[in-house]
Amino acid sequence: MTSVEHMKWWGWGVEGVAFEHSNKPDFAPFVKQAVGLDLRKPAQAHLSFDELTVPASRASEEFIAELSTLVGQGHVTTDDQERVVHTYGKSIRDLLRIRANDLPRTPDLVVYPADEAEVASVVAAAVAADAVIIPFGGGTNIAGSLDPQPTEERVIISLDLGRLDRVLSIDEGSGLATIQAGAQGPSIEEQLGAKGWTMGHFPDSFTHSTLGGWVATRSSGMQSDKYGDIADITKGLRMVRPNGIVAIRPVPSASTGPSVREMIIGSEGRLGIITEVTVQVHRTPAVREVLGYFFPTWEAGLAAMHEIAESDASPSVTRVSNARESGFSLATRKASTGVSAQVTKGLMKVLTARGWDLEQLCLSFIGYEGSASHVRYEKGLVGSIVRKHGGIGVGKGPGALYDQKKFDTPYLRDFLLDRGAAADVSETAAPWSRLQEVYDAANDAANAAYDKLGVHGWIMCHLSHSYHSGACLYFTFAFITGDDPIGEYEQVKSAIQQSFVDHGGTLSHHHAVGVEHSPWMEQDISTEGVAIMRGLFDSADPGSNFNPGKIL
Ligand code: FAD
Repeated sequence: MTSVEHMKWWGWGVEGVAFEHSNKPDFAPFVKQAVGLDLRKPAQAHLSFDELTVPASRASEEFIAELSTLVGQGHVTTDDQERVVHTYGKSIRDLLRIRANDLPRTPDLVVYPADEAEVASVVAAAVAADAVIIPFGGGTNIAGSLDPQPTEERVIISLDLGRLDRVLSIDEGSGLATIQAGAQGPSIEEQLGAKGWTMGHFPDSFTHSTLGGWVATRSSGMQSDKYGDIADITKGLRMVRPNGIVAIRPVPSASTGPSVREMIIGSEGRLGIITEVTVQVHRTPAVREVLGYFFPTWEAGLAAMHEIAESDASPSVTRVSNARESGFSLATRKASTGVSAQVTKGLMKVLTARGWDLEQLCLSFIGYEGSASHVRYEKGLVGSIVRKHGGIGVGKGPGALYDQKKFDTPYLRDFLLDRGAAADVSETAAPWSRLQEVYDAANDAANAAYDKLGVHGWIMCHLSHSYHSGACLYFTFAFITGDDPIGEYEQVKSAIQQSFVDHGGTLSHHHAVGVEHSPWMEQDISTEGVAIMRGLFDSADPGSNFNPGKIL
């Protein structure tokens, strides 16, 4: 029997774990002030699974039997809960739809192949039967990349890669590891770590997302400043197509025409099923430190991040939150007592005496990895840049807060939904010269959308993932929902997205396109760019069998 574990059908993470604020005294007042939500009011219970209306499977007994002979009894299922778990990702739209019993179409069956040969036989059988195949990694995407098309008449197969979860080999001489596509973050790092290696790819969804999903969505991890985005980390791969395997050998660089490797990265299942990826790996660093810094204003923080990106320092993480997000981070701190509370109080007094407006204070995290001497050198360089921009170092304490927050935040969305508020994210990347403009435009767009809706909404932002030419801006927004939560969400999200492309940003730095962002593709990559991509999808998949409707 298949033993692949999945997240809750109704939310993030595993059953029994939830966001908890009783040990965070500043959180309830913060939420009241930010969106007007009173956390003393009781939470509403979400539907139980039995209350969902799950469409019946359209798969015939013969087709189920045929697939069962290919992957073995117990690895093909039409179970309702399995099909619901494989229907959506984890965007706020997905969570709202599940909670509203909005399931017009689900996969008709879920198939768990054991290896590439089984993937190939399932793909061949599915295409011969004119079925739709939607590859499934961890189901964590937030762009509608898994959504079955509501009007799809053909049988839909969710092809879950969860049994392909092994590191197959490590070429120690080259620092290249070949890993099966269904392996999830913790399992990859555990297998590599046992041999002294790390891949260095740590998206906030790390605990539940997979290597194949990262590649298929062009993911980026928090340490991308040092290790690169998944597009940089991916050196070779294998992808199953109806008539054979695309095999891209791992070479450091190649001059072989337009890059097929790059076409597959970000393809969201539209070109075939990725089964194996050869990635760049690194020796586990001797030292890993995340230090906190305070800046007096957002503009000062932004200028410092830019100068760090241009400097000889190459930190693993560069991140600065605007004043609102800094306030949020500090409000999610566990209660501090004794010495640490006194130190914080003392520090705030010093900053006020220096003329800082504490309402404008911006919290920054900079990560360092490498040998002790390398980390020392980088910290020195960064420290002088921070001071030049009026900032100060506040040590390792906030670094621990950063790690703690990473685990809390995904659960927070379910917590807020239980209490009638929606929170989600929108992110982009833009050149340094336009980042402030994009920042201002996105804030204005969200606030105009809130005014139009007549709600007291919230938007906050951080900069992360720095490059030589620019960086990613990551916005989180929240508001109390009314009668049409999805419609209201779409108004706010669309306004922010439109502001990105209007002001020189991309529709997404690392969350992919799916169906959520496809309306902006033409504005982002031009009409001719879309025509080339459409030609690729049409010729590679003439029968529209591979995850149709995504990206374009
Ligand atoms: P899925 O959601 O299962 O699938 C995503 C797409 O990839 C689908 O189109 C699917 O068909 C396709 N696909 C999956 N596997 C394969 C395969 N083997 N072959 C072909 N196609 C395949 N993203 C980031 O980049 N960085 C972050 O820090 C980050 N943080 C997040 C935090 C939260 C709380 C959440 C909910 C999401 C976050 N994401 C982040 C988004 C998401 O985790 C990524 O898009 C991730 O790469 C999806 O991987 P997955 O394995 O869950 O893929």
